[in-house]
Amino acid sequence: MINFEFAKNDMIKKQLYNRGIGDPKVLDAFKKIDRHLFIGDDIIDQSYDDNALPIGHGQTISQPYITALMTELLNPGNDEVILEIGTGSGFQTAILSTMAKFVVSVEKIRELSVLAKQNIAKLNIENIETFVADGTLGWKDNAPYDGIIVTAGSPEIPKLLLDQLKPGGRMIIPLGREAFHVLTLVLKTEDGFTKEEIMDCTFVPLIGRGFAE
Ligand code: SAH
Repeated sequence: MINFEFAKNDMIKKQLYNRGIGDPKVLDAFKKIDRHLFIGDDIIDQSYDDNALPIGHGQTISQPYITALMTELLNPGNDEVILEIGTGSGFQTAILSTMAKFVVSVEKIRELSVLAKQNIAKLNIENIETFVADGTLGWKDNAPYDGIIVTAGSPEIPKLLLDQLKPGGRMIIPLGREAFHVLTLVLKTEDGFTKEEIMDCTFVPLIGRGFAE
């Protein structure tokens, strides 16, 4: 069995800090939330490796750097309500919960939502609520949101997600088809939105009914 505490601190230094993740709140979140609590026993020794890992049902937990970068770009404030689409293992949800007031997370695969709940229950976290639903339709009960994070690759910005974002709110979303996505930061304005392309990346696909085409 590897030394998780050592592996975690090494990951934070080499994969996050040395690559430009500088926000102390994000680095602190990765110290507080042990990634190995979100990884299956069979591959637990790989918990702090520099890559995505399988979590079952053909889905993956993102590479630590990508989780950190998306968190830093979203920059949840402690008075803000965040919507996450794609709960997966629940790791990104838990990271966000250390910075935000409240995190609502939607997952379409029931078994993964159950797994995420079990993972999150290992930690003392009170400010997360998870639901099983098609996240391309958003989650209107808690809307509008200060920030939205989509953790699966989407061919376009789902219209209902943009509708459920506050003016001035941010959305971080990988946009594109198949394995070719561009991590994109969307800023909602009074009369529309602006887009900033951050970097090329590969995500599992966002599949749902909330697309125009
Ligand atoms: N944030 C996760 C990454 C999960 S991978 C983590 O840290 O582990 C992306 C997840 O999006 C998968 O679990 C997949 O089932 C889910 N997903 C795909 N399409 C979806 C949709 N329309 N609504 C909700 N979840 C969706």
